[in-house]
Amino acid sequence: MKCPVCGNKLETIETVKEIPYFGKVLISTLKCNKCGWKDTKIYILESKPPVEFKYTINKDNLGKLFVLSEGTTINIPELGITYKSVGENKITTLEGLIMDIIDRLKILKDEKVKELEKILEQVKEGNRSLDIEVRDELGLSKVLDW
Ligand SMILES: [Zn+2]
Repeated sequence: MKCPVCGNKLETIETVKEIPYFGKVLISTLKCNKCGWKDTKIYILESKPPVEFKYTINKDNLGKLFVLSEGTTINIPELGITYKSVGENKITTLEGLIMDIIDRLKILKDEKVKELEKILEQVKEGNRSLDIEVRDELGLSKVLDW
């Protein structure tokens, strides 16, 4: 492969690491020794059984960490919203997750965005809760209990 910036031949560095919550991952880095361009991708090597669970978000758990794996589907049955995560595995908070869904709805110009924004405000104020349904074929998505 050639460097997209300068056309120099790229060096590939691959390492396998054990990462909490994800298990064994392959970290593959493409590096250009001439101009310094670098691209890192992470591949999950362990497969786990799919997970499916419901979670009720409220004021007290909004700040909990949420592991969101690529391709996870989040449903908000109350609003009929289905959100599929794309791109990468990441760790966010439950509030961050809802913000991501709001951002996605904005991009799609979905009218439900206002409703969801209002609900998030009410959850923050402690006036209500919000149910989500999580389905992850990779079995990695979960709420961390700390
Ligand atoms: Zn280069």
